Amino acid sequence: MNALPPRPERVPIVPPGSRLSAEVIATGAELLQGRTLNRHGHTLGGLLTAFGVPLDRETVLPDDPRRITCVTAEALKRAELVFVTGGLGPTDDDLTREAVAEALGKAVVSDPEADAHLQAYFDRMKRSPTPAQRRQAKVIEGAKVFMNPVGIAPGQCITTEDQRHVWLLPGPPRELEGLVECAVRPWLTQLGERPDRQVRLFRILGHSESRVQEAVLAHGVPDGLEIAYCARPGSVELRFTGTEQGVAPMVDWVREQYRDDVLNETGDPVEVELGKALTARKESVATAESCTAGGIAERLTDVPGSSAYFTGGVIAYANEVKVRELGVSETNLAQHGAVSEAVAAEMAEGVWKKFNTDWGISITGIAGPGGGSPEKPVGLFFVGISGKNGTRVTRHQVNGNRAQIRDHGTQRALEGLWRELR
Ligand code: ATP
Ligand code: MG
Repeated sequence: MNALPPRPERVPIVPPGSRLSAEVIATGAELLQGRTLNRHGHTLGGLLTAFGVPLDRETVLPDDPRRITCVTAEALKRAELVFVTGGLGPTDDDLTREAVAEALGKAVVSDPEADAHLQAYFDRMKRSPTPAQRRQAKVIEGAKVFMNPVGIAPGQCITTEDQRHVWLLPGPPRELEGLVECAVRPWLTQLGERPDRQVRLFRILGHSESRVQEAVLAHGVPDGLEIAYCARPGSVELRFTGTEQGVAPMVDWVREQYRDDVLNETGDPVEVELGKALTARKESVATAESCTAGGIAERLTDVPGSSAYFTGGVIAYANEVKVRELGVSETNLAQHGAVSEAVAAEMAEGVWKKFNTDWGISITGIAGPGGGSPEKPVGLFFVGISGKNGTRVTRHQVNGNRAQIRDHGTQRALEGLWRELR
């Protein structure tokens, strides 16, 4: 039985080169009340993009079964793949299963495998499930059921008579992400969607998005190619989506045009690239930070395996610490001030020697909001990089509030080392 209304004339939302499009329906009142940041569109969007399937729309709904039914039915008129997240738990507000079943005109039934999984889960905890908890093992009639690797409620996928697919995934991010890896990704792989639709991305350092756009437009854009610009601190992400034929010449052009400034084509942050480069060269780095007070070290150590190349750092916030721990000269501090090229150089050299590493990075600057002057305004900072070939200091002036200035500082310092390692 299929209660779906007849499919209306196709709205042309499937871009050229793609057969499918997807929608996400994230449920949970907390997502709309500013209590929980909605992550599932982000997770599923990244996954689908990797398969060349455009995530066309995400709807966020409160835990209201009537609206979940209605929006699921609407989404199925537009998209071939619909992912409904949250509301598969044991409480009274967990009604996604029933609401989606209603949209599909199907019943909710017991699933022996999900029941056994639930029972084993409670056995391990030496407890027995309440009737409400047992509901979590229910599925929509005809669903393909995927056991939850970290929780109780299974993932399920219902395929309609006209080959549209509705996925139900649990709300807790750890559970959803677990099921994405062990169920949705393999399912998408076997779906065999190999669209002639490519997404190519470039992270370009040191250019503003408007300048990059000017250059792209001046170069000329093939028909039907989607272009997106996304500004990041000190860099821009340039993305092309389209057919191989449309994308390939743009890829060649960007590589040539921004030869020295393309950080990567993966979207990974600069610390990941630094990790690869330092590991390959078997080199090490230490940090001397004033205005960022550990921000550079934090970013470097966000990367798993960073202990192979990051040795440590000095947070030299006070002048006294710059002198005592890094050997910065009192004379330079008095003559040029703590935020100066001379002091940045001595900080980088100081930490390089102190930690006996291949590279030393330093930063000193004015994060504000106070402390600026006409000669040294808020947002001014110097980055020093020391290595066996000497020390290079760069001067930067950025806009923003305290947090943004510190982010820029961290980013520019990491980029400074990346440029040295190229
Ligand atoms: P549970 O068994 O935990 O009740 P559930 O499938 O019923 O799971 P929800 O009740 O909707 O899911 O949410 C469970 C938890 O997951 C809550 O902490 C919720 O804030 C979080 N969560 C749900 N949806 C999202 C989302 N889109 N992004 C981030 N967190 C979410
Ligand atoms: Mg719940």
